[in-house]
Amino acid sequence: MQIADVQDEIDHELITKAQIASKIHEVAAQVSKDYQGRDLLLVAVLKGAVNTIAAFSQALSIPVQMDFMSLSSYGSGTESSGTIAIRQDLSCDVRGRHILIVEDIVDSGRTLAWLVEELKRRGAASVEIFALLEKPSRREVDVDVRYRGYEIPDEFVVGFGLDYDERFRNLDSIAVLKPEVYQGE
Ligand code: 5GP
Ligand code: MG
Ligand code: MG
Repeated sequence: MQIADVQDEIDHELITKAQIASKIHEVAAQVSKDYQGRDLLLVAVLKGAVNTIAAFSQALSIPVQMDFMSLSSYGSGTESSGTIAIRQDLSCDVRGRHILIVEDIVDSGRTLAWLVEELKRRGAASVEIFALLEKPSRREVDVDVRYRGYEIPDEFVVGFGLDYDERFRNLDSIAVLKPEVYQGE
């Protein structure tokens, strides 16, 4: 789905499809180099990071394994709940594994800080992070994002996996919604 298909609800496009692809390829080239010869496990948090991990994994030039986890962070609104719970766990044992967490966006940083600690607690050999988007002005918890995509302003964004109330995940770029869309929240 493209911006034009939902133009009535979109205020403006923030990052184009081409910009997303170019950044993902740039990071993938770096990660392929850094993890050459090592056994790498990509871990993505459902559902927002699905588009990112799909594009990113295909852009890598090294073989990887992938696993998924579903965590509760945001409800249907636009503010973090602050409570993290596992809705669906990984299907593999991470002991001794080199892990790269693939994330859609770092907002407060609470979800990632929690996940990094959890994976280390389970015995991962190393845990690094690739986040496609970051909102530096919203950071509340210190997390070390090794591979960074785009920094964005403090605006609620949708597209490329990111939703508002489960909508817009299949938009092929990143956009800001019109304020009216949030009315009644
Ligand atoms: P954090 O724990 O860093 O505050 O953010 C947790 C999750 O909230 C992110 O992984 C993402 O799924 C969601 N989130 C944060 N900011 C936004 C945003 O601007 N738009 C959307 N759709 N989701 C967001
Ligand atoms: Mg996420
Ligand atoms: Mg969401």
